[in-house]
Amino acid sequence: MTTIAKSIKPLQTITEDDAFLESVLKEANIPALMAALVHITGRADIIRQGIKPNADLFGDPQGGITAEDQAVVRANALTVLKNFRDSQGKLPPVPDEKIIKELLDFVLGAEVPDDYLEFLSSELSLHGEDAYAQPAIRDVPNELKSSAEVVVIGSGMSGILAGIKLQEAGIPFTILEKNADVGGTWLENTYPGCRVDSANHTYSYSFAPKDWPQHYSPQKVLLGYFDQIATDYKIRDYIRFNTTVQSAEFDEVSGTWTVTATSVDGITETFVAQSVITAVGQLNRPKYPDIKGIGSFDGPAFHSGRWEDSHALDGKRIGVIGTGASAFQFIPEIARRAQDIVVFQRTPPWIAPREEYHDDIPEGKHWLLNKVPFYEKWFRFLTFWRASEGLLDSVRKDEDWKNELSVGEKNDQLREMLTAYIESMVGDDPDLFDKAVPAYPPAGKRMLVDNGTWLTALKRPNVHVITDPIVEINQQGLKTQSGDQYDIDILIYGTGFQADQFLAPMKIKGKDGLELQEHWQGDPRAYLGMTIPGFPNLFCMYGPNTNIVVNGSIIFFSECEMRYILGCFALMMKEGKSTMECRQDVHDAYNELIDEGNLNMAWGAPNVRSWYKNKHGRVTQNWPFTMREFWQRTRFPNPDDYIISG
Ligand code: NAP
Repeated sequence: MTTIAKSIKPLQTITEDDAFLESVLKEANIPALMAALVHITGRADIIRQGIKPNADLFGDPQGGITAEDQAVVRANALTVLKNFRDSQGKLPPVPDEKIIKELLDFVLGAEVPDDYLEFLSSELSLHGEDAYAQPAIRDVPNELKSSAEVVVIGSGMSGILAGIKLQEAGIPFTILEKNADVGGTWLENTYPGCRVDSANHTYSYSFAPKDWPQHYSPQKVLLGYFDQIATDYKIRDYIRFNTTVQSAEFDEVSGTWTVTATSVDGITETFVAQSVITAVGQLNRPKYPDIKGIGSFDGPAFHSGRWEDSHALDGKRIGVIGTGASAFQFIPEIARRAQDIVVFQRTPPWIAPREEYHDDIPEGKHWLLNKVPFYEKWFRFLTFWRASEGLLDSVRKDEDWKNELSVGEKNDQLREMLTAYIESMVGDDPDLFDKAVPAYPPAGKRMLVDNGTWLTALKRPNVHVITDPIVEINQQGLKTQSGDQYDIDILIYGTGFQADQFLAPMKIKGKDGLELQEHWQGDPRAYLGMTIPGFPNLFCMYGPNTNIVVNGSIIFFSECEMRYILGCFALMMKEGKSTMECRQDVHDAYNELIDEGNLNMAWGAPNVRSWYKNKHGRVTQNWPFTMREFWQRTRFPNPDDYIISG
């Protein structure tokens, strides 16, 4: 087995003069810098001298360290970096576990619970280890691995990851991809303003850090990242592009899956494999609203996920349906060019202010990330933590909480804070303020990140927010309930995706001819989001209940899933078996737990309508617990959870 995944980026040598060092230190994140200084000097007393960040996750990234104290840390850092440069960069060994625990407590501003230590230390990966490697697959003899062919469906973020990990493990695989290139959602969503809303230092593979140009990269940069990774790890050689999977059928006699796919030329081919990994994403099949007259509009009409560049938008009257994450990003962009934008809003989004949302990462920060030993590790780790467990408390239900606008005391504090932000932006326009403040708990739906662009766009004289419900789409435009007609030239649907129909439109047949969509009946469930009773050796990535609202990056989930799937392969191989099927009772008990968990979260509140819920109101999308819990549960499969045979 070759080890491909590496989590240490080679550091560049420090050659710059003192004045330069002094200037870049102004850009430093002080908690990450202090942790780095401990690594560079081997002196833990640096964090024992009273200067200490607090645990305020929403507020100051400097952890409330005063300007005066920051200056003290910078002066100390200057001396340390000068010595490090002049001594040609010799580093002491990585501190022992006790000091790492002290460092974790320090940067997080609170004592890290014991059960978190392993998870966080692994995520930090201070020795350069692959944090999400599956050790069990390493011990399996190559001849066993080489006969366990896998078909992966999709080459977006999860499919590329699956390819990298299978290649590393020495397991043969083919990736079938309907598109002409890799990238999945980042290839398909090309609307103006499209960018990631999770910070890029965590929205990236743990083993492939990048010197990101921005904190939150635009679509082209992300596509470039996945494209580059697929090339660097030689994953393209395994991908059959322009090949759409129609069906997959399990044969109980041979214990294999037959996957049928059609190429763009209409040629149908079958692929036989021991296991199938679906990595098809959720956000790529447009959902159109159920509105009378849809299709009757005379002008161009298209969906945000199928953006049509061919239409000149300048000087046009444009109607947009929806104010979700996609419309939120493209409306401000097109508002600069259109004559008028009529925004049909059913529900406003909650917005988390993020000043740096569109900003380039300044040169000094790049320098620190690239040249100060361990600074990037701690910076990434802090970014990871700020977007993870700490936020969960503020979106969890308090027993007996009666307010419909929030689910608990902390959630209500968050609501007040976010409302104050909206007021600071549009408080001078009471009509717009009323329209912009959501009447559901924060994090009931995906919370959107912004630097003021959205509300500034809504204030433009050529942007009109209509909350009167649409009753009809007609040749000229749209009609609303009060009888108003809005004539437009172009209609754009920002109405989201058919995310609730996991794995559709593929026909997937498991044991006894059981068809997955018929089996699910619009209520998709899986064990750990990955395995389904009746469907042996079928593994879903980004499957039911693995989505997140406030905590973490979806890449974290995919990395945990791939580690688990390799664990499943190792388990079968070590036991000399070829199939494993999740036990029904294990699956059911797990789903009860998930449902209970989701009912305790803001997105499970009964007055929230979102794509996270199915038509019965059950949350089929979200993971309701901590990231640590998913990490822990997916370390290695419990053999008792499965029927292992073949
Ligand atoms: P979405 O969040 O599902 O938003 C769809 C919008 O259309 C909602 O505002 C919805 O209103 C509205 N809508 C649907 N039917 C309507 C009707 N009949 N009349 C009026 N309005 C209607 O879809 P999306 O914006 O494409 O985002 C989907 C997901 O993709 C996000 O949650 C996020 O996970 C992901 N995404 C991420 C990014 C990013 O990382 N930056 C960007 C885009 C998307 P209601 O809210 O009332 O249903």
